[in-house]
Amino acid sequence: MVIGPQQRVIAIDGPAGAGKSTIAKALSARLGMKYLDTGAMYRAVTFEAMLRDLDLDDSDHIAQLAIDCDLHVGLDRVIINGHDVTTAIRQTDVTANVSKVASNSGVRKEMRIRQQEWATTHGGGVIEGRDISTVVFPEAILKVFLTASPHIRAQRRVDQNGGNVFEIAAAIEQRDLIDSTRSDSPLAESSDSIVIDTGNRSIDEVVDELETMFVLRMIDGNS
Ligand code: C5P
Repeated sequence: MVIGPQQRVIAIDGPAGAGKSTIAKALSARLGMKYLDTGAMYRAVTFEAMLRDLDLDDSDHIAQLAIDCDLHVGLDRVIINGHDVTTAIRQTDVTANVSKVASNSGVRKEMRIRQQEWATTHGGGVIEGRDISTVVFPEAILKVFLTASPHIRAQRRVDQNGGNVFEIAAAIEQRDLIDSTRSDSPLAESSDSIVIDTGNRSIDEVVDELETMFVLRMIDGNS
């Protein structure tokens, strides 16, 4: 069997603060694979819509913006329509609005196409998001769903960006609720995902485990 770029994917899904970015980046560095943060794509579209003062409920207009935008998401930089928005997309107002934009099916369709093209261009990769295992790369060779308790997830965000842990926990809960109840590609575990609670595991431990699984599956897939 030949493993193509749409299969040579490590799909990492999970709610906010579950440790996806840290683990996905470490794993990609270990394996020498490219890394894609699909959340940054939805954040960049949200930022651009807010910059243009668009009505986020106007689904057609927002979907068109997503189709027309020139978007580059790299390891360290996010550029949309020529502007570096790496820091700006992490602001509280973007975080508060991103789930609404991400529930727009037109936006999702466009992002999905770009994510699949990205994998083809790079020969696969480590890709994190919410619907990577379930919808974007259903044939991924390794699917992972990361979780942690709501308190641990909120505390991680506070450690990264500061703020009040109760307020952050409420904001995360609200975002998770929208992400997991939307009709188009909601946040969900895939039946064949490996579920890991990162609350009581070190990053190295999780990365070691996933690296071993990926290598074994690649050997298996190539034999
Ligand atoms: O991963 P991050 O928290 O930056 O993602 C921001 C938001 O982007 C999520 O809350 C979700 O609404 C959306 N998202 C998505 N599908 C993905 C990745 C992110 O809907 N694959």
